[in-house]
Amino acid sequence: MKLLMAANWKMHKTRADAAATLSRLVAALSGMPADREVAVFTPFTALSACADALGESPRIGLGGQNCYPAQEGAFTGECSPAMLRDVGCTWVLTGHSERRAIFGESAAFVGQKTAFALASGLKIVLCIGETLEERDSGQLAAVLERQMREGLAGVGDDMPAPVLSLAYEPVWAIGTGRVAGPKEILEAHALARAFLEKRFPAQGKAMRILYGGSVKPENAGEIIRLDNVNGVLVGGASLQAESFSRIVLA
Ligand code: PEP
Repeated sequence: MKLLMAANWKMHKTRADAAATLSRLVAALSGMPADREVAVFTPFTALSACADALGESPRIGLGGQNCYPAQEGAFTGECSPAMLRDVGCTWVLTGHSERRAIFGESAAFVGQKTAFALASGLKIVLCIGETLEERDSGQLAAVLERQMREGLAGVGDDMPAPVLSLAYEPVWAIGTGRVAGPKEILEAHALARAFLEKRFPAQGKAMRILYGGSVKPENAGEIIRLDNVNGVLVGGASLQAESFSRIVLA
């Protein structure tokens, strides 16, 4: 299984900045080991410029940070999986905690997006994670279980492993500089693995589970060597090619 090293640029970068960062990243990753794969989730407005900058680079995929579960229609402000594919995306993020918390996305709606985007031919990184309040009140397992169950509700149990990944992102570790420790990561990833193996009997073992939350060049190596950690999803430290390439090569 290849490690999936993913960048989430959130609402950052003009087209020119995005394309320049991606070009620098391609150059920095020219000797990337064969066991790594990269996905970069850019703002919608930068996707076309990034697709041009990437050219035929097969080991760096482009993704949208969100999508709406319909082919087209009267959904002002939204973007369909077909539109993402049209602009060169092969990936999409679903269930990021900022979408859940700021935009009120329910676990069920995240599930609709996940199933629709997969059926539309995109690969998925489905984000899950608990708030500090949920963790402190002993709800970690229940929260993750519900987010996975509802987030994957419409997905066939024969889904091939390379197209479906989870990202465990404890909300209290996103953008805070506070990284989950090995014990916390191991526990959550073991819960996610057990769920996947039950839900996808043939492929669950081989599906990737990424860790996200204040990953930096300095801590990435230790994190990706933990059991059941099959890559990382990186926000702040992915905005510069220099720091993200050091994470990818950690
Ligand atoms: C994220 O937004 O998915 C994330 C993990 O952000 P950061 O790396 O900045 O904590």
